[in-house]
Amino acid sequence: MIIAANWKQYLSPKEENELLLEFGSSLKLHPKQELWIFPSLYSLMCLSKLAKALDMPVTIGAQDIAPTLDGALTGGIRADFIRGELVLIGHSERRKIFHEKITDIKKKLQVSLDANKRVILCVGEKKPISDEEIIEQLQTELDAYKEVIDGRKEQVIIAYEPWWAIGGNKTPTVQTIQKVIKLLHKLGFAQVLYGGSVDPHTIGKIVCPELAGFLIGRASTTMTVLQAILDQLTEM
Ligand code: PEP
Repeated sequence: MIIAANWKQYLSPKEENELLLEFGSSLKLHPKQELWIFPSLYSLMCLSKLAKALDMPVTIGAQDIAPTLDGALTGGIRADFIRGELVLIGHSERRKIFHEKITDIKKKLQVSLDANKRVILCVGEKKPISDEEIIEQLQTELDAYKEVIDGRKEQVIIAYEPWWAIGGNKTPTVQTIQKVIKLLHKLGFAQVLYGGSVDPHTIGKIVCPELAGFLIGRASTTMTVLQAILDQLTEM
């Protein structure tokens, strides 16, 4: 099972460094659990080097990527220049705060897949709607990426993250999650993560065998909280 930790900009570079070391020395992963960490873009290079130097069993990825390889993009980080094999694309905070549209996400998918990255593509409805509407919306969005993704779906992991579930304590039902996974499998995406308010209190209600893992924000920035989630998953 994949545990993807999205640290956003919660921690200072020093705290990120310390947390990675703490994970390395004390976090107990079940042999079937895989830990992916998305630190701030500022710390990406440094933590990638540290994880490699210490031979830590974690994969470090980028929280975002520039939509083009064009040199003239202030503040951009090119997909073909970054270290590591993983890139997060389409997170709801990027869509909400930076107004990223499907056309931008499509470009990011293109450059990342061309650079041979594995992409975690975040999708999900903005507000609670019926399961039928969720399925329709997801299908429409994924159709828009078809020409870019087709032929390289094995490089794409979908994270189902309803916007309304992120950063709080509400989650969809496991039945809704299962319906979404069924659709995504039908569309050829073998690995599906769930993200949104995953913590030691919610995890038991949303875990199901069809899930490849979880994308975890706030709860992944504290070692004891993350360990409590991992322990629960091990016992299930
Ligand atoms: C996220 O932002 O990807 C996320 C899942 O956040 P949280 O776990 O804090 O809801």
